[in-house]
Amino acid sequence: MAEPYREGSLRCPACVGLLEPRDAGSGALVDVCPGCAGVWIDWFDGDPSTLARELAPLGPARDPSEGESGAPCPRCTQRLLEEPYAGNGPRVLRCVDCAGAFVPRSSYDDLAELAPPVAEDEAPPTEPNGLGRLVAAIRRWIAPGD
Ligand SMILES: [Zn+2]
Ligand SMILES: [Zn+2]
Repeated sequence: MAEPYREGSLRCPACVGLLEPRDAGSGALVDVCPGCAGVWIDWFDGDPSTLARELAPLGPARDPSEGESGAPCPRCTQRLLEEPYAGNGPRVLRCVDCAGAFVPRSSYDDLAELAPPVAEDEAPPTEPNGLGRLVAAIRRWIAPGD
């Protein structure tokens, strides 16, 4: 059952369906699995918890196809590592190589709750939008505090 690799089509690590690009707001493009409603988030897409909140309207949880540790990364085919987001959050599958992450549908809601509250009158003074925020998000993943 050799599947030809098609450039631009990412394969879901949970159900091996093809991921579909989806606008998650704020210019971020994530890849959603039409089969299991899991989401692949590239490291440059943004803070996963914030993205999860944006994606919450995706719909109710479906019969979960969770994905497993050891499934191949859609981007670089490295084995994904299962771990709790930010140390004690919902389960995600993270790629240590390209720092992308697969969020099973069942983890969205919990992940979305971890998103920092949107405080419009309180812009972070030291962190610029964009790259600085992303780097901060990745740092939290790589070296979860407390
Ligand atoms: Zn899937
Ligand atoms: Zn990867």
